[in-house]
Amino acid sequence: MATSNDDTRTRLLMAAFRMPSIQTMRSRKTSITNAFVSAIIPSIRPSVDEIAEALAILRMEPSDVRCAYCGDKSSEWDHLRPLVVKRRPTGFISEIANLVPSCGKCNQSKGNTAWRDWMLGKAKLSPTGRGLPNIAERISRLEAYERWRAPIRVEFESIVPRESWDHYWSLCEQVIDDMRRCQEFADKLRAQVVDSLPRT
Ligand SMILES: [Zn+2]
Repeated sequence: MATSNDDTRTRLLMAAFRMPSIQTMRSRKTSITNAFVSAIIPSIRPSVDEIAEALAILRMEPSDVRCAYCGDKSSEWDHLRPLVVKRRPTGFISEIANLVPSCGKCNQSKGNTAWRDWMLGKAKLSPTGRGLPNIAERISRLEAYERWRAPIRVEFESIVPRESWDHYWSLCEQVIDDMRRCQEFADKLRAQVVDSLPRT
């Protein structure tokens, strides 16, 4: 009969292992949609003065640029307002009024969530989830950044002819559908491979 020590050890052993998460083609739906949106987003390079102004609002030195969300060393600039919501472009683009320095961890964790909700939310890697100090101060700097100037908002649907627009999103659906069917085929192949493995 198992003692409670055995139970504790079993629990510890189970917790010590983590199976790598497998990226299936099915789990690519969001990244495919994001790629279809990113592919039509214009990028506007900022001037040196604009970079200086942006860093001044965030109270950062060019020689020590930090993540605007958590304060770690920054590795990239992240879209403050998401480019994609409900699988369609929001109209915000890549321009400095909509970009802030970020670390990879924050950029990944924030995804397409509204920045304030994410910062105050309990996502594992959000500033609140990580239990970081000075969150209110960082939020007020980002609010100042939002007040800096109105971001460009592109009305894709009034610029691009309706037919082209609909065609573009049907291409996106087709790719997602193809990937789903590829995954179904892959599932069958994997089942055959699993069957061939030596039994333990
Ligand atoms: Zn960060």
